[in-house]
Amino acid sequence: MIRLFLLFLTFVFCGHVSAANVLMKSPDGHLVVTFQVSKGIPYYRVSWQKEEVLQPSQMGFLLADGDLDKDFKVIGIKRNTHDEMWHELYGEEDSVHNHYNEATIMLQQTRGLKRKLNIVFRVFNDGVGFRYVIPEQAGLGKIAIKEEQTQFALSHDVPAWSISLNHVEYYEGLYKKSLISEKDTVCTPLTIEYSPKIYMAIHEAALEDYATLNLTPRGHKLVAALTPWSDGMKVYGEKTIKSPWRTIIFASTASGLITNRTMLNLNEPCKLADTSWIEPGRYIGIWWCIHQKKNTWEMGPIHGATTENVKRYIDFAAKHGFSGVLSEGWNPGWGQGEKVTYLKSYPDFDIEEVNRYARQKGVRWIGHMESWGQGKLIEKEMDQAFSWFHGMGMNAVKTGYVGHLMDGKELPSSQYGVRHYRKVVECAARHHIMIDNHEPAMPTGIQRTYPNLMTQEGVRGQEYNAWDPRGGNPPAHTVTIPFTRCLAGPIDFTPAIFKLQGAIKGTHPHSTLAKQLAEFVVLYSPLQMAADAIENYEGQPALTFIESCPTTWSKTIVPNGEIGKYITVCRKERGGDRWFIGTMTNADKRTMDVCLDFLDADKTYRAMIYEDGAGADYESNPYAMNFRQVEVKRGDNLHFELARSGGAVVRIEAIK
Ligand code: CA
Repeated sequence: MIRLFLLFLTFVFCGHVSAANVLMKSPDGHLVVTFQVSKGIPYYRVSWQKEEVLQPSQMGFLLADGDLDKDFKVIGIKRNTHDEMWHELYGEEDSVHNHYNEATIMLQQTRGLKRKLNIVFRVFNDGVGFRYVIPEQAGLGKIAIKEEQTQFALSHDVPAWSISLNHVEYYEGLYKKSLISEKDTVCTPLTIEYSPKIYMAIHEAALEDYATLNLTPRGHKLVAALTPWSDGMKVYGEKTIKSPWRTIIFASTASGLITNRTMLNLNEPCKLADTSWIEPGRYIGIWWCIHQKKNTWEMGPIHGATTENVKRYIDFAAKHGFSGVLSEGWNPGWGQGEKVTYLKSYPDFDIEEVNRYARQKGVRWIGHMESWGQGKLIEKEMDQAFSWFHGMGMNAVKTGYVGHLMDGKELPSSQYGVRHYRKVVECAARHHIMIDNHEPAMPTGIQRTYPNLMTQEGVRGQEYNAWDPRGGNPPAHTVTIPFTRCLAGPIDFTPAIFKLQGAIKGTHPHSTLAKQLAEFVVLYSPLQMAADAIENYEGQPALTFIESCPTTWSKTIVPNGEIGKYITVCRKERGGDRWFIGTMTNADKRTMDVCLDFLDADKTYRAMIYEDGAGADYESNPYAMNFRQVEVKRGDNLHFELARSGGAVVRIEAIK
C-alpha cells in the first residue's frame, strides 16, 4: 500500500518539482540523505544516527564543452523500494540482504544548452550509494568529462586511514592515520574514524567504464579526483555516461565496516549463465622461492618453473589438499617487453605434460600472464591463450601489470586501464578461466557480476617481506588492511609463510607463526595462497590447520577490532558446521577473548586451537606455538594470550 502511494506521488510531482529539499531515508530511518538545488547548484548531505556527517556537498561535472554543475532545476523524481536476499556464489556470506530506498532525481539546466543530468540515490540502513547518469539527449554525442565535481564535505576535520595516490605504485602502500586536512590526494577506500561511535568509509562500486575515484582534501572537505587519461581528460563516452556508485558506509565500530555489503549490493547481479566451473580453493606455488631469489623467473640454472619442480609442487598439493599450483616464469620473453608470449612455454617447462600430470592428481596448474603493463599484448593473445589453457584442463590464471603506465601511456586506474581489465575478465569467463589480477585498478565489487574475477592484489602484500630493503611490512600492517583495503574486496595477500627468516638480512615476515595462520582466515580471498616453499611446510603440525581451512564462507562475524591494533574474525564454512577463527595483534602483546555466542545451542563442539606458545615473540621467538583442544558450547569464552605481532586460529567442529 505504502509503495503504491509513493509511486502515485512520483507521478504527481513529475515536471512540477520546486527547489525544495528531496528527503531520502533508509528503510530503518536512521540514515537520511537530503538533496537540494540551491541557486542552481545540486548538493546532497548525509546524516546517520542523527549526526550530520556530510554537510551540503556539491555534485555535477565539467564537460569539455560546457558546465554540468550549475543552472539546474529539478524536473522529476522517481522513487522505488527494493528488498531482496541474494545468494553469493562464494564469499563471506551465503546470502546478502539488499534493502534500500531509491530516488532518481532528474535535473535540467535552465540556461544555455539546457542539458539534463540524472542522479540516482540508494539509501541502505548502513550505507548510501549515488551515481550520475548523463542521459541521451539532443546535442550530446561524444561526451568528455573534464572533471567530476563530487564533494564529500565532512562536518569537521576527522582522522582517517589512507594511502596516498602519488608516490605509491599499484596501491602497495602502508595505510597511515592522519587528519583529512593533512592528507595529499588519497585512494579509496578511505576509512574514517568520525567519532568513537561512528566509523565510515568512502569508496565506489561497479567501476565498469569510467576512471577510478581518488579524493583530494580541501580543508576537511574531500573532492573527487578521477585518474586522468594522458590527455588530461577524465572520462569519455558516447551519448550517455553512467558513473560508478559513490559509496559512503557507516558502522558504530570499525569492525562493523568489514561486514558492510553496500558495495556488493550496488553491483549488477551475476552475468554468467553457467558458473559451475568457478571453484574457490587453496593454492601453493614457487612464488616465494622466486621472491627470495632462490629460483629465477627466467630460464637458467635455478629456474623455478621447470617441469620437474612444478611436478614436485603438484605432488605436494595432491597430498595436502590444495586445489592449485601456480608457477610464474613459465613462458618465454620474461622481462623482455614485447618478446613475451603466452602461446608457448619455455623449453624446460612441458606445459602439456604438467597439466596432464596435475589433472591426473586432481590438481590444476595455475598459469601466469605477466605483461609489464602491456595491456595490448594480453588483449592480442588472450583469446587464443585462454582457449589453449582451458583445453589443457586449467581453470585459473594470474595476470600482472608491473610498470607505471599501461601500454606506455595510460595509468592503470584510468578509464583506459579499467576498460582493459574488464575485457580480460569477460574473455576469461568465455573460456571458463578464473582470474587473480595483480597490479589492478582498485576493486569495486565487480566479482558479483563476473564471479570469475576471484581475487586481486592492489595491496602491499607478503612479497615485501621477501625483498623490501626497509625490512618488510610492519606488524601493524595486517591488522590495518582488514579495515581499509579489504573493504574493496578479496585480496591476494599470500599469507602463511612458515619459515620466518628472510633471504635478505633484516627482511622477513614480522610476525609469529601463529599470526601467519591467522592471516589465512582474516584476509579473505576465495583463491587463497599458502605462500611458502613446500619444503617449509613439510612435517609442520601448523599445516594441518591450512589443510582444513576453507576459502568461502556461509557467515562472517568480526567480534573484536581496532584499526592498526588487533582483529578477530569468525567464519562458518559453507555446506558444513565448522567454524574457523583467526585473531591477531600488532607489535603489542595483548589478551583477546572471543565469546562463542554464534554456535548452535543444542550442540557440543571440539575447538582445536593453534596459538602463540610460551615466550613467543615476533622478534626473538616467532615459532613458539601451542596446540590445545577443548570442548566448548554456545556462550563459552575462548581466551588467548597473543604475543607481540602474534595470533591464534581455532577450528571448531560439532562432536555431538
Ligand atoms: Ca605486487
